[in-house]
Amino acid sequence: MQSTEIIEQIKKLESSDIYELLNNRGIHIVHRPDLFTFTNSDARIITDIYGNTWIFLSFADGENPVFENFVLWHELGHIETRGRSATSRAFDHSTHDHEEEVEANTFAFLALVSKMKKIPSCQMELAHVTGIPYIVLSELMSRLRRDEAFMGYLMRKG
Ligand SMILES: [Zn+2]
Repeated sequence: MQSTEIIEQIKKLESSDIYELLNNRGIHIVHRPDLFTFTNSDARIITDIYGNTWIFLSFADGENPVFENFVLWHELGHIETRGRSATSRAFDHSTHDHEEEVEANTFAFLALVSKMKKIPSCQMELAHVTGIPYIVLSELMSRLRRDEAFMGYLMRKG
């Protein structure tokens, strides 16, 4: 999916509150650090055969609110761009180079910056305020730097 399409999808969202958006879609958030002991991933999204969707998070409720916000936007990005699938997906810092992951990160990034009055020009600060891990953000930015729609959107915001 092109970033122009992602921008259009974000504009169409009925709210800028991720918790409200997930709640409206009947998506449950579950904090279960105990389930992530043997994995590198931070979150897993699961849709069962009845169409119920859960987002399992690797940290406790209130432990990491800024990062949680990003992870939830990322997972909503998967759902909005690809639909709910019967298979599960994991969010993993080290495997974010797949097309679907870039798409979900782009969705999350654009949704988070669209709420900001001014976008920090320093990537370190941008990572800090959006909750996006620096490595994920810097890879995303270098990938999307040649994307005119994406850059145009950022310029208008910044
Ligand atoms: Zn993902």
